[in-house]
Amino acid sequence: MPAPLALPRVGMGTWHMGESRGRRAEEVAALTLGLDLGLGLIDTAEMYGEGGAEEVVGAALRGRRDEAFVVSKFYPHHASRAQLFAACEASLARLGIDTIDLYLYHWRGGVPLAQTVAALEELVAAGRIRRWGVSNFDVDDLEELVSVPGGTHVAANQVLYNLARRGIEFDLVPWCRERGIALMAYSPLDEGPLAHHPKLAALAREVGVTPAQLAIAWASRHACAIPKASTPEHVRANRAALDLKLDAQVLAKLDRLFPPPRAKQRLEVI
Ligand code: NAP
Repeated sequence: MPAPLALPRVGMGTWHMGESRGRRAEEVAALTLGLDLGLGLIDTAEMYGEGGAEEVVGAALRGRRDEAFVVSKFYPHHASRAQLFAACEASLARLGIDTIDLYLYHWRGGVPLAQTVAALEELVAAGRIRRWGVSNFDVDDLEELVSVPGGTHVAANQVLYNLARRGIEFDLVPWCRERGIALMAYSPLDEGPLAHHPKLAALAREVGVTPAQLAIAWASRHACAIPKASTPEHVRANRAALDLKLDAQVLAKLDRLFPPPRAKQRLEVI
């Protein structure tokens, strides 16, 4: 059995990067600054900018591959044995690296899980990926996954998790914790609005941070939070959130503003 994956509490997202040539230099600079500051995990996907985001990540990684843990994802229509190897090679080429640290099944499609897991295990054996995981899998999907041969090797599940979407705390968080499956929290700012939420902003002022930093520090209690930032100010603020420890009083106030789930909720997906 591979060891549980230890991920940093905060990394960098890249959705919507690589979509425009005109913004490329700014995006590479944001990721480069993040690496300079010690944000050592970058999350991307073949879907983002149809390969453009992986190229941006590749440019940021040039000459400093060892400073980052690289996560990428494949489309459900590449999840068959016939498609997955080519998809992985194309991602590696765009990223300009020899091995993807964590390769995620972006969301579940129609290919039998046993086939996808077998192909992922082959990619591990071939050294093209170090570990594999899933994204947008709810508990029932994970139960099915761990029942197929090799399925218990799943290293991580990347899901929507932020103050406004706490459903996973009811069942998915404990389920993954009991099995040593790492959680990654995508859209920790709910795609931006939490950075401007008036009540969150008032509490953030009391703590002496920004609402975005409070939201990121909060999401990173249970998971590796991967905010996407394309300005130097946002990158610096998000790096600082990594050092923020929230005390019991602040957590209780956040629970009053954003109540935890009291029953099972279906996993939300963006
Ligand atoms: P997000 O990180 O919640 O929010 C991004 C937005 O917040 C951007 O508009 C960004 O602005 C802004 N922002 C970032 N840092 C800020 C700060 N310190 N203060 C104020 N505003 C700030 O949303 P997301 O991009 O949807 O999610 C993050 C990452 O998760 C994605 O990039 C992607 O890697 C991953 N993801 C995965 C899935 C999946 O299905 N697996 C789905 C969605 C996302 P600027 O860009 O102007 O800095």
